[in-house]
Amino acid sequence: MTSDRNETIVLGAGLAGLTAAYALTRAGRGVQVLEGARQVGGLARTVTHADFRFDLGGHRFFTHDAAIEALVRELLGPELLTVPRSSRIRLRGRWIEYPLKARSALAGLGLGTSAGILAGYARARFAQRLRPKPLVSLQDWAVAHFGRPLFELYFRDYSEKVWGIGCNEISAQWMAERVQGLSLGAAVRRALWKQGRELPTLIDRFLYPRLGIGRIAERLREEIERTSTVLTDTRIERVHHDGRRILGVGARRTAGEIERTGLEFLSTIPLTRLVQALHPHAPAEVRAVAAQMRFRDLLIVTVMLNRARATEQTWIYFPEKDVPFGRLHEPTNWSTAMAPPGYTLLVTERFCFRGDTTWNASDAELIDATMASLARLGFARRAELHDARVVRVPAAYPLFDVGFEQRSRVLHEYLARFQNLQLAGRGGLFRYYNMDHVMASGLEAAQSILRRGADIDTVAPLAMEGAS
Ligand SMILES: Cc1cc2nc3c(=O)[nH]c(=O)nc-3n(C[C@H](O)[C@H](O)[C@H](O)COP(=O)(O)OP(=O)(O)OC[C@H]3O[C@@H](n4cnc5c(N)ncnc54)[C@H](O)[C@@H]3O)c2cc1C
Repeated sequence: MTSDRNETIVLGAGLAGLTAAYALTRAGRGVQVLEGARQVGGLARTVTHADFRFDLGGHRFFTHDAAIEALVRELLGPELLTVPRSSRIRLRGRWIEYPLKARSALAGLGLGTSAGILAGYARARFAQRLRPKPLVSLQDWAVAHFGRPLFELYFRDYSEKVWGIGCNEISAQWMAERVQGLSLGAAVRRALWKQGRELPTLIDRFLYPRLGIGRIAERLREEIERTSTVLTDTRIERVHHDGRRILGVGARRTAGEIERTGLEFLSTIPLTRLVQALHPHAPAEVRAVAAQMRFRDLLIVTVMLNRARATEQTWIYFPEKDVPFGRLHEPTNWSTAMAPPGYTLLVTERFCFRGDTTWNASDAELIDATMASLARLGFARRAELHDARVVRVPAAYPLFDVGFEQRSRVLHEYLARFQNLQLAGRGGLFRYYNMDHVMASGLEAAQSILRRGADIDTVAPLAMEGAS
């Protein structure tokens, strides 16, 4: 058993856990980061496949937080590229540029549909001013902010594809957080006059590491390992406690089980997973709430092509149900270093639940269906397929169904009893966070630990079986 008087145990080596560990090691604290996967970075990792590299869905780095931007610049320096953003949405077989450009929207949708959208928007804004209604579901929110015609044309199908449940079952809060202040009015004003605040949803340039977004996590790991440890292939299965403090964790590695004790604990693994791993068990009613909270999972099908380029966009969105994936991106449009010369790759994102037919489909079936769609859309021919890779990504999105806030609160309130436990990150807090938010949440959690200062005399000695 390893026990260090000065040790914080960090659960999960995504950007939240690594940023926290980095801040703690910079402050002279000993840290052990325990990660279930064989690679660090979590959702923000870059997969290497022969000479190709790809993220799990293209990850752009953008933030309004100067401290987080300074940290990323300090870590990556000249590796950072500035990439112009250009996205398209495929609607009714036509292409529309996003952020909206007046001419492209008109050409793509036609005058009649565009006029209908604007009229629907005006009606919805007027109705909401006259008789404001509570906005409970995504459907309420999108209709109130964009009007019914645009909701039906775009938001309904895309949201249902992403979440796998009806728009009236998805919480309005997801939409409000996701589009952060965007309304059709703001989008149209920007399309016509380029006015308005830089909303994260609309920004048209972002930072990207030359070798993929996973470089942020890799650089954090290098810095942490100057003085502390990052242990991959270490899946946490038990979290031991005495009702007031966390005492240690039990984890499974390929080589066998290990146990770790520590003074402070910082969890970035899915909130529900943490509650389920508590030993002794959390009360039945708390576990029942955890069991009702779900994550949406993600399946990435990447095809490598023996052609130099297939698209011109950063992202392309496919709300319609006749295309099996919701979004695709071509990493070589972000950085030419992501494929060898003369080749390119397309990364498609499918949203699913672990264990459903999409998740369980064989790699060969998934690659075949993806190539068929790409051929139909005109992006690639079967003869150009050089190689392919399927990656299944559990717990990609906390599922914000109606009522999730109350359920999440129950878990947070229960966990608050543990005096030496901090939570951070997207799944760790059950928040719809981007990379900059999770990094900030990691820094905050590290600061709480540093402020508190560990008093080792209050920690009960832990006797655990099977420790190594
Ligand atoms: C498709 C997609 C596209 C995105 N695009 C962007 C973007 O363009 N820009 C942006 O800013 N953000 C983007 N994000 C969001 C971003 O990926 C996340 O906010 C961020 O990576 C979350 O970091 P995290 O550390 O909180 O969680 P995670 O990355 O989920 O890290 C948690 C870690 O815990 C590990 N873990 C889980 N269970 C256990 C266990 N039992 N034991 C040990 N380890 C465990 C996991 O393996 C993982 O490494 C995107 C997300 C997705 C899904």
